[in-house]
Amino acid sequence: MNKTILHWSYLNFKDVPMDLFLYEDLEEVYLKENYISVIPKWLLNITTLKFIHLAGNNLSELPADIYMLENLEFLDVSNNELTELPKTLGLLLRLQQLNVSGNQLTELPMELNTLRNLEHLNIAKNQFRRLPLQLSECVRLNELNVSDNEALLHLPERIANLPMLQSLAADRCALVYLPAALSKFMNQVRIFHNTCVNYIPMIYERFYQNFFDNRQKVTPISISKKGLFWVRELESQKRLLLPVGTRNVFRVPSPENRVTLYDDCLHALQTLNRHLPVYENAALHRLLPEPYMSAHINNGPIARCTTTNCSRCLYTTYYFMVVKRRGSASKQLFTCNFCTHNCALQWLSSNAKKYYQLDWKVSDDDDDDDEDVVGDHDDNNGDND
Ligand SMILES: [Zn+2]
Repeated sequence: MNKTILHWSYLNFKDVPMDLFLYEDLEEVYLKENYISVIPKWLLNITTLKFIHLAGNNLSELPADIYMLENLEFLDVSNNELTELPKTLGLLLRLQQLNVSGNQLTELPMELNTLRNLEHLNIAKNQFRRLPLQLSECVRLNELNVSDNEALLHLPERIANLPMLQSLAADRCALVYLPAALSKFMNQVRIFHNTCVNYIPMIYERFYQNFFDNRQKVTPISISKKGLFWVRELESQKRLLLPVGTRNVFRVPSPENRVTLYDDCLHALQTLNRHLPVYENAALHRLLPEPYMSAHINNGPIARCTTTNCSRCLYTTYYFMVVKRRGSASKQLFTCNFCTHNCALQWLSSNAKKYYQLDWKVSDDDDDDDEDVVGDHDDNNGDND
């Protein structure tokens, strides 16, 4: 049986026509580029609907009862005038694609974590400053677009750890650094024009294009130092902000091959956590030697080992390297994180022809003048007027 599809886009509708009720088993409705300002209550009773395209209308809100459309798989309300999303969106358990780009949203409800079938999420062109950690529970998420959120400073590491995530677009945000825990299975990453990013974790190297350097305007952002870890790269004297959660970094080669027992412990817990979440296991929770450990587990790793055949999760302490490409005009800095000294040496021996190491030191509080500011780089490549 053919499904019923209505093509009612570009018709200057001011309201959703009630004629919709005349169609039996209506599954898809296109109402793009009309002047609709309200989703009427009666529409929510057409529970056969799987697909609603309402891009480019005048919607200022979505009804809280939207969860009644229990079969909805596709919802596009991009380019409307939404300022918030109802928490009940999280009850649309069959939703696979959600596009809310081009609105005036500032927060994503953490209740969206129940959308276990969500594959595509587009929240571009809004005013998000942060994303909820809970997004990482949308385990089927495959494509995430957060581009053009000019105040978005940070992508939670846990989001980069989504098992199915293959495509991330974060162009023209205000990211202060890129998540270093990104899965090696990603096949598309766009991070153009994040003016505050002054280094790129090696995991992004295969997506790297010189255009990433083309920072037209650099907007220094002040960041509170509290709990953050910085190093100073000694060739260009840039200060690099390392992933939140970093407690200690070792250079390569190191005088000693230290074992980070604390991280080993976290690693073991993370493995356990896959079978029985720590927060649901009160006994395990009480056994943890310090309260931060469960936070580390819940927040996920802050980086992964750069050695391709390792990729081990890293939590607080790692071997760290800053490198540049040999013989390249680009001044781009790449960083590597390793779980052990041996992994670092292994990577170095197979990549020494392509990259060279730069010296760095841990940046102290009294380091100097620009300590709380990122985006202060001077590495323009001559192509940015
Ligand atoms: Zn490793």
